[in-house]
Amino acid sequence: MYYKQYGNTDMKVSAVGLGTMRYDEEDIKAGRFEKCAEIPLYAFEKGINYWDTAPFYCEDKSEIVTGIALSQVKRSDVYVTSKTNLGTIDAGDHPTKDDFRRRLETSLDRLKTDYIDFYHMWCMLSLESWEKHMDALYGFFEDAKREGLISNIVFSSHMQGNEIETVVASDKFKGMLIGYNALNYRFRQSGIEAAHRNGMGVVVMNPLGGGMIPANPKSFAYLAEGTDLTVPQAALRFVASHKEITVTLAGCTTKEHIDDAVKAVEGLEERPAKEIVEEYEGKGMALNNLCTGCAYCKGCPKDIAIPKYMDAYNQMILTGESKEILERLSGHWGIDKEKAGECIACGKCERQCTQHLPIAERMKEIAAL
Ligand code: SF4
Ligand code: SF4
Repeated sequence: MYYKQYGNTDMKVSAVGLGTMRYDEEDIKAGRFEKCAEIPLYAFEKGINYWDTAPFYCEDKSEIVTGIALSQVKRSDVYVTSKTNLGTIDAGDHPTKDDFRRRLETSLDRLKTDYIDFYHMWCMLSLESWEKHMDALYGFFEDAKREGLISNIVFSSHMQGNEIETVVASDKFKGMLIGYNALNYRFRQSGIEAAHRNGMGVVVMNPLGGGMIPANPKSFAYLAEGTDLTVPQAALRFVASHKEITVTLAGCTTKEHIDDAVKAVEGLEERPAKEIVEEYEGKGMALNNLCTGCAYCKGCPKDIAIPKYMDAYNQMILTGESKEILERLSGHWGIDKEKAGECIACGKCERQCTQHLPIAERMKEIAAL
């Protein structure tokens, strides 16, 4: 296993971490938690010492399964995470210390541990939501840290690079968890660079682009060129090889998934994001043609669900078949092409688009299909 240093700390963490939101659904439903716990135990055997969990994952059973495994290894040999935000506390905008405490204690009980290594201020979608959580929750995090219930305060986010830079500059967090992959790197890259410069650990979720990369292996074959890796393995490696990224989370259901993740970082060579991006931008398909689903184009005056239409357009780019657009719209999203024809080309969405896509032109194309 390849290990990296977590930010400016002396913690050594595995370059791939275990994402615990994908324990086998049938086993979870049937309550076979011991069986599910074989996954983190196998990951541990393979050197994976960073396990990321949260309330609600796997029908709210992920922490329980992860705790079963955690109780079977030496506690200090694994870094375990969990998460909270106002939504998990379920006490409105002004939770009390007791509300927060109950949430944290539930996670600790389920994980069968008396401390959590990385506790996330979970799912900060915008600077506004981050500020709200800072006001409502940060004090609780500090208290929990003082008491030794959590070791490091971190956050997870779906913000753009420049917004992440603002959070990083607050100097309130030891590290962060963000989505980053071969599809969306453009609008997150400055964020991971800022965190790295600031001595923070950077953990990445969603390295396979929400399944879009494995579902379209031909389009992403360039990631695996010159290697003996499969496309999903190469996509993991793409992320893990960033010098700025500490841990790349792989959601694993089977032991084979763990073997895949381990192989993806064998003999890893770390390089700065700028260098990696430059290399890949010149290769394969034009990644910047794809919608990443970031949803920054909201507020269409004609109320068009832009990300859904652009996602359908992605299918055409990826397969070369225009009929895929219609199939995606009706089969996956349950909407029709006619609405696209209502676009008045006002340009509002294009000014907000993180990928600078010609949205109005695509709407016209879709409507004309
Ligand atoms: S350009 Fe079209 S899709 Fe974009 S905001 Fe304007 S009307 Fe909506
Ligand atoms: S169209 Fe642009 S802004 Fe909208 S979801 Fe896609 S990439 Fe994001």
